[in-house]
Amino acid sequence: VSSTIDDYDYLYKVALIGDSGVGKTNLLSRYSKNEFILDYKCTIGVEFAARSIHVDDKVVKAQVWDTAGQERYRPITSAYYRGAVGAIVVYDITRYATYQNIEHWLKELRDYADPSIVVMLVGNKADLGHLRAITTDDAKAFAERENFFFMEASARDALNVENAFTQLLTQIYRKAL
Ligand code: GDP
Repeated sequence: VSSTIDDYDYLYKVALIGDSGVGKTNLLSRYSKNEFILDYKCTIGVEFAARSIHVDDKVVKAQVWDTAGQERYRPITSAYYRGAVGAIVVYDITRYATYQNIEHWLKELRDYADPSIVVMLVGNKADLGHLRAITTDDAKAFAERENFFFMEASARDALNVENAFTQLLTQIYRKAL
């Protein structure tokens, strides 16, 4: 029996959002390392990478979209959110403005994404604890109020990156059952 990397039971589109510089691209490359497939890189500045994981006895493939810097100079288009069943909203724990700006990203989700989208809030750069500007408790309380999953992570130290994606995909999978 031959199997290819393209075999999967479920394919989930996940949108990675958050201010420029919070570490989205690094989180994605950290996650997709080892099984990296750069599926597409298009001129409008959207790229995505995919990786499959096992949930129960199923192969769940996440197709994760990254803005590739597009958020710097123009709003992300509705196509970015179309069909997305999960979103990872990233802020930088050392920059308060990126935490405040979550409101902007949530508005985009409300405007463009499916209302049932599963959201994971990620406070990235947890390795820079000495520069922390947002407490874990504040972010956790905010996430609970909004019904989001929450994790602090570090793309640099590979802390909780795998966990964040796995938890999000597992929740999407369970919800779809
Ligand atoms: P993006 O604009 O959101 O895609 O952010 P990037 O992935 O390009 O990262 C922006 C900057 O933050 C780069 O200089 C990265 O090296 C740095 N960075 C990303 N993740 C981490 C992290 O977990 N810890 C630290 N210390 N730096 C990070």
